[in-house]
Amino acid sequence: MTTIITPLGGFGEVGRNCLALDLNGQILIIDMGFNLEKLLEFETKYDLNKKPSLNFMIKKEILPKLNLLKYKRKNIVGILCSHAHLDHIGAIPYLARKLKCNIYATPFTSSVIKSICDVKFDFSKIKSMPTNAKFNISGINIEFIPVAHSTPQSVIIAIHSPIGIIMYANDFKLQSGFLEDSQTNLELFEKYKNKVKVLFLDCLYSSHKGSCESEFDVIKQFQKIEKEVDLKNKRAIIVSTFSSHIERLITLAKLGKKYNKKIVFIGSSLSKYIKSAKDTQIVDLSEYGEIISGKRNIHYFFNNLKNPKDYYFIVTGHQGEPNSVLKKMADGLFDFTKKDLIIFSNKIIPAKVCEENREKLEKKLNKTGVQIIKDVHVSGHLFSEDHKQFVSIINPQIIVPSHGENFMEQNMVNLFKKEPFSKIKVIPLKIGENLTF
Ligand SMILES: [Zn+2]
Repeated sequence: MTTIITPLGGFGEVGRNCLALDLNGQILIIDMGFNLEKLLEFETKYDLNKKPSLNFMIKKEILPKLNLLKYKRKNIVGILCSHAHLDHIGAIPYLARKLKCNIYATPFTSSVIKSICDVKFDFSKIKSMPTNAKFNISGINIEFIPVAHSTPQSVIIAIHSPIGIIMYANDFKLQSGFLEDSQTNLELFEKYKNKVKVLFLDCLYSSHKGSCESEFDVIKQFQKIEKEVDLKNKRAIIVSTFSSHIERLITLAKLGKKYNKKIVFIGSSLSKYIKSAKDTQIVDLSEYGEIISGKRNIHYFFNNLKNPKDYYFIVTGHQGEPNSVLKKMADGLFDFTKKDLIIFSNKIIPAKVCEENREKLEKKLNKTGVQIIKDVHVSGHLFSEDHKQFVSIINPQIIVPSHGENFMEQNMVNLFKKEPFSKIKVIPLKIGENLTF
């Protein structure tokens, strides 16, 4: 009876999350994401209309190292997905195509996976499971446990292995917002107390003091803006956030509605996620306004736009992405004036390429005199007090820090050195390094 845990991506780095669990010869893969930063680097440097080849993506470490499994690849019995962010599912169209096993994810995540795979992909392999699913793959019992994060229907995954429970707790927070079926209920975790052998724990913000705020705090941040800025007398209001952050899109749409403006959601990735939210009965954002996607439609809309003052634009481009709507607006598609307002409801991803892209965009926008408000946002990840609270409930034997660079992993080692956690072993793992039991 052997259990071998092998990280294939997302350890000692942020991105391309992927983990292999070999349980007596049967392999489960958890998450199959790509490295967004490295992909954006490619998009910024090269031809935007050209898709990178599979070989290029493997060579540039954009995809997880599935090749580390070598001949054992045929033993993969299932792929489990924790949530719909591309650093967790983005590699599926590339790497899962040739694998015969099924892919298990919540309805929203399944829908997003389908939207990023082309028609040649065998969609019957994608199995939609409820957020509290309990199921069995080749005799292995698996549980999904719903948690709050910055995209709907995210889950923590518990795998009942011969060595005890292996819990994969990446990308979540304790403070829930208003979206049903996307909330953390800590009571659900009580039953795992002292039963978890290995806890994979999101270490991204393990050095941040205090607790992460909830989505309700973003609403408060907007209320503050409403007090300080005369939104009623602004010409166009333009807002941007992560397209997958459905809860935030609801908050943004509600704000637009208050000011009696015509709401338009513009951008291909926005339309993709909005469709998934509608198809899975989370929310129908088309009830708030029109959704415009596709280069031709977007250009047609802006070229025929008569009264910008009547509009509230929800657009892609918060990271200054070269292909985004906001970037195109700044490049001349929209005539900005100092009476307009742009609100960035996000944080810049701490990667050189994102920082540079956003800086270039802001420089251009600043020349027009448009008012810019930034960082109206709360994180979707645990802070150090949250880590401690969660770990005191689970009390695992081993913690493996995940989803972070080496210094973040080390922060987590330090966090749990002290009492009452000193009995827990914190073991950072490298990509390709086996943890064997
Ligand atoms: Zn995430």
